[in-house]
Amino acid sequence: AAKTAGRNAIRFFDPMMQAAVSARAALENDLRTALSAGQFLLHYQIQVGCGVRPVGAEALIRWQHPERGMVPPYEFIPLAEETGLILPIGLWVLQTACAQLRRWQGNPATEQLQLSVNVSARQFRQPDFMEQIRTVLLQTGARPDRLKLELTESLALDNVDDTITKMNALRALGLRFSLDDFGTGQSSLSYLTRLPLDQLKIDQSFVRNIGIQHTDALIVQTIIGMAQSLGIDVIAEGVETDAQRAFLEKHGCTLFQGYLFSRPVPIGVLEQYLQARAASV
Ligand code: C2E
Ligand code: MG
Ligand code: MG
Ligand code: MG
Repeated sequence: AAKTAGRNAIRFFDPMMQAAVSARAALENDLRTALSAGQFLLHYQIQVGCGVRPVGAEALIRWQHPERGMVPPYEFIPLAEETGLILPIGLWVLQTACAQLRRWQGNPATEQLQLSVNVSARQFRQPDFMEQIRTVLLQTGARPDRLKLELTESLALDNVDDTITKMNALRALGLRFSLDDFGTGQSSLSYLTRLPLDQLKIDQSFVRNIGIQHTDALIVQTIIGMAQSLGIDVIAEGVETDAQRAFLEKHGCTLFQGYLFSRPVPIGVLEQYLQARAASV
């Protein structure tokens, strides 16, 4: 026991560890004020069908930190989830995305587009999540059938009965659901088929390896086949090359998202592209 305590004592004064702990504390501190300071914004990444026809976009949060510059989501979303700050942040994302959807309505270049929003487990599990969505839709006037929620496999299968109940209630309002990062979790096929999904989203790790790793190309084909047998859409994320797009299309995937088409961009950049495209067709 003395030996263990000694090791811990040494660790406690480890300067590297100390630095990491205080860096995290500083980030957490900044994260607490980021929302009220207006430091978050959404970027939008276009989603296209065959022939590069725009079908929608995914809203992706960005944190414009006054000293650190743009902080990527992987640096603060896990922290926001641990601290519970994801609840107000997630609500802000929904409000901002729905306000954007409302602005797209009534314009032929944008009114057909769907907007996908990422939802964290903690956010989805709130007892009043359904009420929050309903309020946001009412406040913004966004069409519910243009809003798509992206859930991960682990979220969806963590408490599958609660998930299905919530999804069905939200679908009754008109919302759509996509299963994000699909293929990376350990989902049981039987549970998966119970989920009332509209779309599977093939994780970018498989898409990246299409021409490199034969097993990943097979996984991609399997996921496309699963979506087809379930009668739902399938979209590939992280499409970077024309060869990847061609492989996906050849195997029946008709929806794409990735740097090949566009990076996530500020709303003005996306809208300029959409208007220019609408004017040219
Ligand atoms: P995700 O939902 O799977 O989003 C896709 C990520 O892949 C985005 O990273 C996007 O910028 C990136 N990406 C898109 N196309 C390509 C490509 O062709 N190549 C490569 N290498 N990357 C590509 P981002 O924006 O850094 O977001 C990372 C993750 O953070 C998201 O993964 C999502 O899980 C989370 N996230 C982002 N915004 C939100 C949000 O508003 N709420 C919640 N809860 N999570 C969010
Ligand atoms: Mg996503
Ligand atoms: Mg994803
Ligand atoms: Mg991902």
